[in-house]
Amino acid sequence: MISSIPKWVGNLFEGALRPNVKVVETSYISRRIKLVRFQGDIAKMDFQIGYANVIRVSETELRNYTAAHYDKNMGVLDILFHIHGNGVGSEYIDTLAVNDEVYISPPRGKRLFSPEIRQQVFFGDETSIGLACSALPILKKSKHQYHFFFELGDENRNVPHLLGIDNVTVFSKKETFRNEQWVSDLSIFKTLDRKQASFVLTGNVKSVQTFRKVLKEKTVGKIRAQGYWLEGKKGL
Ligand SMILES: Cc1cc2nc3c(=O)[nH]c(=O)nc-3n(C[C@H](O)[C@H](O)[C@H](O)COP(=O)(O)OP(=O)(O)OC[C@H]3O[C@@H](n4cnc5c(N)ncnc54)[C@H](O)[C@@H]3O)c2cc1C
Repeated sequence: MISSIPKWVGNLFEGALRPNVKVVETSYISRRIKLVRFQGDIAKMDFQIGYANVIRVSETELRNYTAAHYDKNMGVLDILFHIHGNGVGSEYIDTLAVNDEVYISPPRGKRLFSPEIRQQVFFGDETSIGLACSALPILKKSKHQYHFFFELGDENRNVPHLLGIDNVTVFSKKETFRNEQWVSDLSIFKTLDRKQASFVLTGNVKSVQTFRKVLKEKTVGKIRAQGYWLEGKKGL
């Protein structure tokens, strides 16, 4: 996915990348998780679980974010941002205030949800909370069995609970999703019929890779994996 564009290309497509939504509400669920509600013409947007919207965060930089919730009748779209403090996207989003105008692309990408599978397990971090919020109403409505596992900074531990996400286990980032043995010993593998389950892995690329490796060794049902960010790398 393109994360930066040369300035001349930006100028060429200036019309296409012009702000198309307005910020109508902002709040902080924790000091580092910001919820922003955008309003605009989203009638033609195709929202699928796992798709992301690209947001223009500077003249030349674009970043991917997931719609946590949308309402086409009201023309609103909510996104949960991890304000991690290391990047142009994070800094830009932190400054966003009511009435700011922003460019958001139509959603596209990888579908991460296989509705025919009754048991659904999600692993992720702060960047995956929006995905969880987008999937939750469908999981509830269709009476899937589901569980969310998050690795979160201590200041964000309570965020899933505050957002009404149930069936959730939160680990500290100090426990490590990057340790194969630790992942392999998780109690979920003892209680779940893993051959019948769907596993959706998102968030930190290294954690996703570790989980994927362990799951492959354990022979599980379906694995859908997409790293959302990589330490030391700008814009995935
Ligand atoms: C399909 C998809 C959906 C996504 N959905 C969301 C979403 O809903 N909400 C959300 O917050 N993010 C989401 N992300 C992740 C987001 O696009 C990245 O975190 C992105 O790198 C942020 O851009 P930035 O400009 O802040 O940092 P960058 O300029 O990309 O990176 C600068 C530095 O910050 C580090 N960094 C980047 N992200 C993080 C992080 N989360 N924590 C700690 N360090 C980080 C990088 O490793 C790098 O060293 C999604 C990504 C993808 C691919």
